[in-house]
Amino acid sequence: MNSLFPTYKRFPFEIVKGQGTTLFDDSGKKYLDFTSGIGVCNLGYTAPNVKQAVASQLEKVWHTSNLYESSLQEHVAQLLGAGTDKKVFFCNSGTEANEAALKLARKATGKKNILAFDHSFHGRTYGSLSVTGNSKIKTGFGPFLSGIIFAPYNDTTALNQITSNLAAVILEVIQGEGGVINGNPQWLKAVAKKCRNEGVLLIIDEVQTGMGRTGKLYSYQHYGLDPDIVTVAKGLANGIPVGAMIGKAELAESFGPGAHGTTFGGNPLAMAAAEAVLTTIDADFLDAVQQKASFFWYYLEKEIAPLQVVDSVSGKGLMVGIHLNKELEISNVITALQQAGLLTLPSRGNTLRLLPPLVITGSKLLTGLKLIKNTLQNITVNQ
Ligand SMILES: *Cc1c(COP(=O)(O)O)cnc(C)c1O
Repeated sequence: MNSLFPTYKRFPFEIVKGQGTTLFDDSGKKYLDFTSGIGVCNLGYTAPNVKQAVASQLEKVWHTSNLYESSLQEHVAQLLGAGTDKKVFFCNSGTEANEAALKLARKATGKKNILAFDHSFHGRTYGSLSVTGNSKIKTGFGPFLSGIIFAPYNDTTALNQITSNLAAVILEVIQGEGGVINGNPQWLKAVAKKCRNEGVLLIIDEVQTGMGRTGKLYSYQHYGLDPDIVTVAKGLANGIPVGAMIGKAELAESFGPGAHGTTFGGNPLAMAAAEAVLTTIDADFLDAVQQKASFFWYYLEKEIAPLQVVDSVSGKGLMVGIHLNKELEISNVITALQQAGLLTLPSRGNTLRLLPPLVITGSKLLTGLKLIKNTLQNITVNQ
């Protein structure tokens, strides 16, 4: 890969084919997938119903711009609102959804300050990078947006920083890139309450945790939170690029004609895929995810958590972080698992992150966990 900017450190093989939860590389090696393409292909690779929806839209029209009505966008927006009175802005990625959220929050409140959290990840464009709490990926790119304040995640002192001079607080219910850190339910509720009392908008970034990943359409629904703005992307169209910002209807007048826009936002192919995804993730589908997750967590706690090289296990639903001892190098573990035929992800702090497709069977979840257990045990023996 000589003609590409070396922004990604790549593994030395190419995935050339995929179906369901199985991937094949260019040498014909077969893998069980516990990554979903980083939380994207939640319905599996080349999911038949998504493929069918995109193929049929391909025959009609690919792109029309946002100058005309779109019943497809309207339907996807209604599905995202899930029966509540919400407005949606469509874009093409998670970072763009967060850009829209930050702009809307400032415009709607007439205030400029935003509170974000340490170890958060919200994207790589200037607004979303400005609210990202990871100095490693920010070094050399400043200056960032002014008016951004950081607070420690899951820490009650953060509540004192939520005052009426903030436009918004932005957070993840589970920090994905930040090490699969679960927000403490009581703390999340206290943050939401303080926001309400101080007239501060609450933006919840569901780019990684949304679309059924934790067993609910949005992870905040586990805690009865009522965010003013929600952002989604990754799993929304199962691999066709898309993003969306979902806001309370009362925010509509701040995003009037000309206030914001993007050429490709709400593209018909992406909308056809998103419609197929959202109609698939219904109550029965989410129940099945929760059942698989409780089975998965039973084995995680019984077989993986007690291993000598494991400090703890975190996450929710089918979003899992296995926190490894400092002596183990996460990249060695991921490579060893690849050799054993399982694809996994890293996260901050020596964390092995698992994001299996939501359509995976219980028996394949168990197969993957056995590979992880064996690999972690053998790595200990080798040391
Ligand atoms: C991946 C991610 C983003 C950025 O999404 P892109 O589509 O890569 O721009 C933002 N927030 C969270 C929580 C993410 O996991």
